[in-house]
Amino acid sequence: MYYVFEKRNLKVSRILVAGAGYGGLTAAINLARKGIAVTVLEQKQECDMGHDWHDCLDIEAFEKSGVRTPAPDMFRSAKYHGYINPSASSAKIALPSKSSTVVMDRKVLTSYLIECAKEAGVTFSFGEKICAPVVNQNNAIKGVEAVKDGKKYFYESDLLIDAAGMYSPVRSNLPEACGIQKEFKEKNIFHIFRAYYKNTTGEISNPSYLINLFHMNRPGIDWTSGEKEYIDVLIGKFGSAGRLSRQDVLEALGDYRKNYPYIGEETLRGGIFADIPLGKMPSMIVCDGYAAVGDSAGMTQPLNGCGISLSMQAGKILADTVISSVGDFSKSSLWKYQYEYFYKFGKMLVLLNKIKDFCLFIDGKNIDTLLESDIVSVNVEKIISHGKIKPDIGSCMKIFRFLPQMSSLIAPFFRTFAEMPFAIMVVHAIPKKYDYKKINNWVKLYNRL
Ligand SMILES: Cc1cc2nc3c(=O)[nH]c(=O)nc-3n(C[C@H](O)[C@H](O)[C@H](O)COP(=O)(O)OP(=O)(O)OC[C@H]3O[C@@H](n4cnc5c(N)ncnc54)[C@H](O)[C@@H]3O)c2cc1C
Repeated sequence: MYYVFEKRNLKVSRILVAGAGYGGLTAAINLARKGIAVTVLEQKQECDMGHDWHDCLDIEAFEKSGVRTPAPDMFRSAKYHGYINPSASSAKIALPSKSSTVVMDRKVLTSYLIECAKEAGVTFSFGEKICAPVVNQNNAIKGVEAVKDGKKYFYESDLLIDAAGMYSPVRSNLPEACGIQKEFKEKNIFHIFRAYYKNTTGEISNPSYLINLFHMNRPGIDWTSGEKEYIDVLIGKFGSAGRLSRQDVLEALGDYRKNYPYIGEETLRGGIFADIPLGKMPSMIVCDGYAAVGDSAGMTQPLNGCGISLSMQAGKILADTVISSVGDFSKSSLWKYQYEYFYKFGKMLVLLNKIKDFCLFIDGKNIDTLLESDIVSVNVEKIISHGKIKPDIGSCMKIFRFLPQMSSLIAPFFRTFAEMPFAIMVVHAIPKKYDYKKINNWVKLYNRL
């Protein structure tokens, strides 16, 4: 696609951020503080920003990302959580969350980051629906085409930071020659419905945050998290099992209301369908004049879909790269950002993705065995704790002992473990300096993982 800039309606800014995603906002804050002009184009109006619910994030991510930590009254500690197995036969197991994990209202988080960005000097234009990138003859990204109040605009940029989420119209319209994956595979998408329903009696379960694995035998994860005023209900289905339908949601809600009659009919917040990318990150996130960050670059933790802290830390790495690039926004200069992000987080993410792929072989019966035998609470959480993998030989041995009871998992289990050292080796072999041939070879290897 090649666009000729029209003189009319042409707006110029050196750095544009497409979508006010968390990684883009963090990059913008860090860049504006250095006096670099940054404009954020966001489709929503400012008052509509942020999901209409609370989510978990690592409070240390702010400091690591060069953003002032919010005041303590803006978040609370994460709760203990319990698991329920598909046949609901196992006792509910309560597990604490990591001490730095906090819960924050997404609307509060988003407006806080926007305020920090404005303070730093970032310019915002809300109600700006981006349609596609502007691309020159050399396949370099030179801006975006957007519609505001029914009028089309072309925004010129030297660097376009794509923070427009997993369905970014910028990424999906990049030329093939950029080598950037345009869409996420269906098997790597987690389809979700989330709503807060009125708590009609003020009663709450113990623990109040209950995670249902394969609830009603649907491959996915549901939860209920109770507060005196409302019950937060999430219903989720793995893309490998198809899209989440309204019928799935009604069935799950019906079952919940049978067990917890205090979940009212009135929706207090949310009530929407949403998707999370849940797979290996794409092999390429930069090209000439372009860098993707956050969900647009698949930067979520593959097992639990958490992406806020990772996006923010990526935003800081991107800003540091841009600052050190002294105006060179070519792929070879932006490669430093991709290299540093992969080097820092790639090993952990690729291993968690292997475990996630293994989980796709698990069925409801296997989960019953896992939870009834307490393997999950005592052992798996010791090995995979809050997104980090810690070798715990004793726990691994206990899991081995249970394998015969889950015969369908034996082959995928050993395959997963056998593939892990190669995966780590490939991620760490990412070329440090931009070299077209070396990067091409690395991409081929990475795409095989
Ligand atoms: C139900 C649910 C629960 C989650 N729970 C957690 C959790 O507990 N912890 C956690 O860390 N993560 C969680 N996540 C994941 C988390 O939301 C994302 O990883 C995180 O928001 C990073 O995404 P992002 O900022 O890159 O993109 P997004 O949050 O998708 O933001 C993209 C922005 O771009 C804008 N945009 C999109 N298209 C256009 C366009 N055409 N023109 C202009 N602007 C556009 C959008 O309006 C939006 O403001 C959850 C996600 C969901 C759906």
